[in-house]
Amino acid sequence: MRSPYQELKERAWAANREIPKRGLAISTFGNVSAFDDARGVMAIKPSGVEYDRLTVDDLVVVDLSGSIVEGRLRPSSDTPTHLVLYRAWKGIGGVAHTHSGYATGWAQARLSIPIYGTTHADHLAEDVPCTAVMSDEAVRRDYEVETGELILECFKGRDPLHTPMVLVAGHGPFTWGETPEKAVYNAAVLEELARMAFVTRTLDPAAARLPDPLIRKHFERKHGKNAYYGQK
Ligand SMILES: [Zn+2]
Repeated sequence: MRSPYQELKERAWAANREIPKRGLAISTFGNVSAFDDARGVMAIKPSGVEYDRLTVDDLVVVDLSGSIVEGRLRPSSDTPTHLVLYRAWKGIGGVAHTHSGYATGWAQARLSIPIYGTTHADHLAEDVPCTAVMSDEAVRRDYEVETGELILECFKGRDPLHTPMVLVAGHGPFTWGETPEKAVYNAAVLEELARMAFVTRTLDPAAARLPDPLIRKHFERKHGKNAYYGQK
């Protein structure tokens, strides 16, 4: 019998397969989920399964409380982090988590990624934020939920759809988007921004941030009501 969640699982499966294809994680590192807002469920990668062995039927469907709705495997251990974001933010249809090298490097250095150039400004109009380091107490409490809470704390006063990415200090990147495909795309964009910023800072440790008018120009070319980049 065809699963009522077949399409959601297929999209989540395809999005997960993009992670190693785009060189964003090795082995079992990372995970992507796809969210169905109308039904309040997400499909996520199972825990500890390698990407190239992953089948559509391995995907696990869970509701917003974390109860398994469909699937025979255990969901990713990061499932509670994804759920915190879906519960808090409207309009998010996918979340991706990777341990891609450059983005993780900045996260381990506990540094936000400065907006040095227009490639960055084409995608977001501010530095890629880095969360605070998790307290020992929070680590002991409920680690994956607390990771989500750290992200929400960091996004107070920010629009998650304008800044669809974050570095979790000491850990690595989480990205999201209106769709799971967009979440993975943003993970690839973040890795490229992280790599470019690393090169910039290496060449000139005192490199200046892009001036504000250039940031606005590039961001608004692609976002908002006056966007004019690309084809109609
Ligand atoms: Zn991780």
